[in-house]
Amino acid sequence: MDIEKLYNPQYLSQLAKNSQQANAKFLKKLKSKKPRRLDDVFAALHQQVFEQVDCLQCANCCRNLGPRISHKDIERLAKFLRMKPLDFIAQYLRIDEDNDYVFQSMPCPFLADDNYCMVYESRPKACREYPHTDSKKMVTLLNLALKNTETCPAVFLVVEELKVLPPEQLK
Ligand code: SF4
Ligand code: SF4
Repeated sequence: MDIEKLYNPQYLSQLAKNSQQANAKFLKKLKSKKPRRLDDVFAALHQQVFEQVDCLQCANCCRNLGPRISHKDIERLAKFLRMKPLDFIAQYLRIDEDNDYVFQSMPCPFLADDNYCMVYESRPKACREYPHTDSKKMVTLLNLALKNTETCPAVFLVVEELKVLPPEQLK
């Protein structure tokens, strides 16, 4: 697969939509089977895929998905930017329909032109954890993984790799 093409959000979204039905069926079956070593399998594929995928060529998540920003994130980011938390909130955040703080607009205000994160060391927890393919209890995150195949090239590739694994690895 040509990874470069996956950095194009429209291309990836279309590709993921084309595979959506098959992926949904596969992940639903996986969820019902609850493989014992699913977290280890995901973690290995996550590592393998991120050896090829370069987030600095992508940044789709930073452009399109608004991370939830916790009070701890606000304190850390405000300190990093030498601002008062209330000023940080006023300048960068809004409350969304779920009553969570999110950035006022996307792309993220801290995404630089070269796709670097200007607050990397202090970035929100949600940014650190995305795309969640090396999380614990992956069996509870399979619907999220399906959704993220449309945005994140790495998740798309992890799911593609998962589908072609020998069945004994998913028992
Ligand atoms: S985590 Fe996924 S969507 Fe975000 S920059 Fe990396 S490859 Fe792209
Ligand atoms: S804070 Fe950094 S990692 Fe998070 S969305 Fe913004 S640019 Fe991306």
